[in-house]
Amino acid sequence: MDLDASEIVGDDRIKEECAVIGVIGDSEAANYCYLGLFAMQHRGQEGAGIVSTDGSAMYAHRDMGLVADVFDEAAIARLPGYCAVGHTRYATFGTKDWQNLQPLVANFADNSFAIAHNGNLINANEIRHQLEADGAIFSATTDTEVVLHLVARAVKQKTIAEKVAAGLKDVRGAYSLVVTTYNRMIAIRDPAGVRPLSLGKLGNGYIVASETCAFDLVGATFIREIEPGEILEITKDGEMNSTFLPKLENTAFCVFEYIYFARPDSQLEGKNVYSVRKALGAELAKEHPADADLVIPVPDSGVPSSIGYAQEAGLPMEFGLIRNHYVGRTFIEPKQSIRDFGVRVKLNANPGVFEGKRVVVVDDSIVRGTTCRKLVKMLRGAGAKEIHFRISSPPTVGSCHYGIDTPSKDELVASKYQLDEILEYIGADSLGYLSIEGVYRAVGEERKSYCDACFSSEYRLGLPQQCERPAHVRSNRPKSKAK
Ligand code: 5GP
Ligand code: MG
Repeated sequence: MDLDASEIVGDDRIKEECAVIGVIGDSEAANYCYLGLFAMQHRGQEGAGIVSTDGSAMYAHRDMGLVADVFDEAAIARLPGYCAVGHTRYATFGTKDWQNLQPLVANFADNSFAIAHNGNLINANEIRHQLEADGAIFSATTDTEVVLHLVARAVKQKTIAEKVAAGLKDVRGAYSLVVTTYNRMIAIRDPAGVRPLSLGKLGNGYIVASETCAFDLVGATFIREIEPGEILEITKDGEMNSTFLPKLENTAFCVFEYIYFARPDSQLEGKNVYSVRKALGAELAKEHPADADLVIPVPDSGVPSSIGYAQEAGLPMEFGLIRNHYVGRTFIEPKQSIRDFGVRVKLNANPGVFEGKRVVVVDDSIVRGTTCRKLVKMLRGAGAKEIHFRISSPPTVGSCHYGIDTPSKDELVASKYQLDEILEYIGADSLGYLSIEGVYRAVGEERKSYCDACFSSEYRLGLPQQCERPAHVRSNRPKSKAK
């Protein structure tokens, strides 16, 4: 099977992975946002931004790069005020398009509005065309800008929460939003609750963030999650008011947050992500045992499930693969050539661990298949006698349209090939994926309140409309060869 001959089919969707944060009621609001974004850097490494307000003006600092590089003391000092919202972003396309960096800011007739968005809107293009036909001007290509326009146009509504509710009425897709105006912060989660968003207490004020690991760093206490469909307003004085968008019969929280995306020390739906990942590994060991001497995790994402696998199987676990922490996550490097290079420099086989051994190698997912193919070669070179690859999620067969940057369907090895073909491609002795039922046993919940489209191709919120975009919006990404 010659996978190298397959072509990446360019698609011009803007796919974003992000973290959002907001702090209100503290004169160090921007500084706390900076720290929280730093804790959530794994959710987006391409750009970061913070917008603060002191009630009379909005102050913004946004740039391409990692949080620690984008901000220095001087930049944070230029973000005064009692409220700040922040964002980290990764998008496959438009790497250099600075205008897409968030939070986006707009001036309305009587207020200003800064917005940070995690997720993807599936009918943003359509709404944008309608607005443009009506004379609206857009300065960015991100789907979030349509929300600004829709809220600004809700002129009949009096309060900002009413405007937000009216503006979001026709928006479909995934959105966890944090907004600040001159006098309040608003946290919003789409009615399906696809992306996480939590509320915490921070000194005399409040904090909202995509993940609770941000609370730990700033010393905030977790209060609760923002509910699906909730519009939560918090004033400077700490007054809170919740209203709700129309309820859905079933919510659709992203199960991939548990499998890969969230940090293991975060809490989602009251569950510790690390514990869920261990349970995923234990289920994997039950479904796909192997006659082996050792269990080896693929760091970092495969470590918790590997521990669970080893404990369940009663096998010793060894750190047979050592990671160089100064290389970014291979998958998120924008260029294919850099990604391939990254696999080699990122992980190295620890000498002496593999010689003559039958090993179970555990990772969280196979996307293109390049990582495990290279690992198998490396481990054979290091003397492994048998290699049994085990994956703590089902085959990844569909792209995410709700805010995770999965490559297009054509690049996903499991969307084109059967298990035996994938096994042949990666060159291991056996391959086992966790079943979808196994995933929900580990999560301890019923499947009906989750989105698992990347494993099932069931897009519960629908697919983005295939509508023609104007030439200036389209990415001109060249077709390239998949590896
Ligand atoms: P592959 O080489 O098969 O394309 O990638 C597999 C690796 O990508 C796995 O180790 C997995 O942890 C990682 N991965 C899976 N999904 C994502 C994602 O959405 N973003 C990033 N950065 N890595 C991912
Ligand atoms: Mg990984």
